[in-house]
Amino acid sequence: MIITLKKRATKQEEKKVVEKIKKLGYIPHISKGKDVTIIGMVGEFAEKYSELFESMDEVDHISEIEKPYKLASRDFKQENTIIKLPYGIEIGGNKVPVIAGPCAIESKSVLEEIAKIVKDGGGTILRGGAYKPRSSPYTFQGLGEKGLKFLHDVGVKYKIPTISEAMAVEQVPLVSKYCDIVQIGARNVQNYDLLKACGRQKKPVLLKRGMATTIKEWLLSAEYILSEGNNNVMLCERGIRTFETATRFTLDLNAVPVVKKLTHLPVVLDPSHGIGIREHVPTMAKACLAVGADAIALEIHPRPEEALSDGAQSLLPDQYKKLMSELKVLAKALGREI
Ligand code: PEP
Ligand code: MN
Repeated sequence: MIITLKKRATKQEEKKVVEKIKKLGYIPHISKGKDVTIIGMVGEFAEKYSELFESMDEVDHISEIEKPYKLASRDFKQENTIIKLPYGIEIGGNKVPVIAGPCAIESKSVLEEIAKIVKDGGGTILRGGAYKPRSSPYTFQGLGEKGLKFLHDVGVKYKIPTISEAMAVEQVPLVSKYCDIVQIGARNVQNYDLLKACGRQKKPVLLKRGMATTIKEWLLSAEYILSEGNNNVMLCERGIRTFETATRFTLDLNAVPVVKKLTHLPVVLDPSHGIGIREHVPTMAKACLAVGADAIALEIHPRPEEALSDGAQSLLPDQYKKLMSELKVLAKALGREI
């Protein structure tokens, strides 16, 4: 249920409604527009209180959100959500930040080498996994907390926000402590306890779409995070499974305009995992920008043949540099900026 306050309601009037929602045992979710404030009151049987709120002087009207996801829906919030990161970086505005880095954090020195390449090329967010969801238990599983510390130190040194994945509930506080964005990987998109744990911490969350997740399921997963009180959620399309085997996954570019119509949350695209073939990543990265990505995530490595994971899809420094200059030109033509 959505409670729209009367135009230019005061802080005091807003508080009165918020308190009433809390007293009934629900969590109020506030969204402030230019002149109106709307408050989401979601949860089982919330509608039974609609008349009670309708009769309040502070309230203009009550409406229902038909979609199963509420706070993620454009009906709840019309304006695009803009996520603010350190060093003045934003996701969801006109600028399209490029998130780049290795698949896995391998050592502090390699991470530093890569951070320099990322920054020099114009990338504005540094990625690197410390907990790796590998298909085989016999391959490199990540450096864990030690890796997160490297990422934190390198991020501070190069003045660049950082992102890393949490695979389990107990990893969430660690990733949240050392990094600026907590990533939830494709394989965990419907791990609801993990999503709730992300919702209870303060850092922005990048929620990857699962390889067999429908758009509705993906948005409901985002709802889990939002419903715990964390409004800074971004979605990331990274390729779905189809019958095709010539590429690693099938990057669902169709999803971008569809999702953007349904939700106010920023949409990030990951062409590296999407196609999985280094040679074709730049072409798909340009397609991501054209289709309306709010950020683009790229895996890069100075020596992909030595990479401990996803070397085959990691761009070489020169390819990354060339791609970045092409993306800058394309962004300008599209009325955006890199
Ligand atoms: C990654 O970003 O390295 C990763 C494991 O991604 P995904 O969860 O999309 O497979
Ligand atoms: Mn990877």
